[in-house]
Amino acid sequence: MEFVAETIADLTPSVTLSITSEAKRLREEGVNVCSFGAGEPDYDTPQHIKNAAIEALQGGETKYTAVSGVMPLRKLISKKLREENHCNYEPEQISVNCGAKHSVFNAIMACCDAGDEVIIPAPYWTSYPEMVRAVGAEPVFVETKKENGWKITAEEFDAAMSGATKMIIINSPNNPTGAVYTREELEKLAAVAQSEDILILSDEIYEKIVYGEAEHASIASVSPEVRDLTITINGFSKAYAMTGWRIGYTAAPEPIAKAIDTLQSHSTSNVCSFAQYGAIAALTGDQTEVEDMVAEYDIRRQYMLGRLEAIPNVSVVEPQGAFYFLVDIEKMGIKSVNFAEKLLSHEKVAAVPGAAFGHDFSIRLSYATSLPVIKDGLDRFEAFCRKH
Ligand SMILES: *Cc1c(COP(=O)(O)O)cnc(C)c1O
Repeated sequence: MEFVAETIADLTPSVTLSITSEAKRLREEGVNVCSFGAGEPDYDTPQHIKNAAIEALQGGETKYTAVSGVMPLRKLISKKLREENHCNYEPEQISVNCGAKHSVFNAIMACCDAGDEVIIPAPYWTSYPEMVRAVGAEPVFVETKKENGWKITAEEFDAAMSGATKMIIINSPNNPTGAVYTREELEKLAAVAQSEDILILSDEIYEKIVYGEAEHASIASVSPEVRDLTITINGFSKAYAMTGWRIGYTAAPEPIAKAIDTLQSHSTSNVCSFAQYGAIAALTGDQTEVEDMVAEYDIRRQYMLGRLEAIPNVSVVEPQGAFYFLVDIEKMGIKSVNFAEKLLSHEKVAAVPGAAFGHDFSIRLSYATSLPVIKDGLDRFEAFCRKH
């Protein structure tokens, strides 16, 4: 007898794990490893947010809350989406979930049946395809082009559609490429989705982390009709350095919001009660720490851009958001997992192989780490590229 369900047995475990466990083993041996592997901010949560959670905890906010979150938080999220993102979602359309990862999973599970197709532009965030497969639906990948800034075009979207297409996943700012879609680009994609009533899952977790001229736009703000096809997903992990708190949210058309609430009522129930009060403080409190973090990421980004552009046989597209470089290693003639393993064993530099993102000739370097580590790591990375 097979113990594990077929859909789950077929999921691939994260390819990043072997690299991170090897990096950890080396560190424990006392080896100086430079890590570009971080998928989370290297900052602590701002103090006023922690204080709000502590106060709530001390004040007795220790019981179950409404499944989709306490009403003051849902009202604030609704207000934030209206004022900052220009999309109108009522508080009843908001569901607070255990991290934006859970939000994405809930949304896919609430909308996709076995046999449905979900269009995923590649390179993609590593969990999307496995979540789609976990519910028995099928990921349909569209390889985006570097010369298009790693962004799917309306034509490519249109060509990938079939009678079974249910949803497209858009992630802007993007992990792992750093691409940020312009409003015009989103309008064109939205028009294609509207032509066949395709749902849009818009993962906006890096919304606050954009640089230079780039501006974040929410696809749900294109029009009320587009909003009625869009599940907007965001959270607190990246902007407020709250990855361990596990709070994300979905804003969805009413029937989908209801389905997510029902699904969540039978699975996780509410997000940790006092963590929700921390989230309220994050939305209502001073935003200067967020701005300071982004300014620091930008210093690192510009330093890395200059260094990476000077290294032979690799190339990058300037990231406009998030905190990653996707480095194209195709000219080195070696695939990503092999490259990452050699980079770690020869130079003691940890990086995530592009295979994790559906792009096997690239490597992801995170700059959610200090400038001295970045400098040391890039010296080693450059030495490695020049030798091989
Ligand atoms: C980090 C990340 C998430 C999940 O964030 P959590 O709130 O920590 O679950 C979702 N999407 C992308 C693209 C991410 O990089």
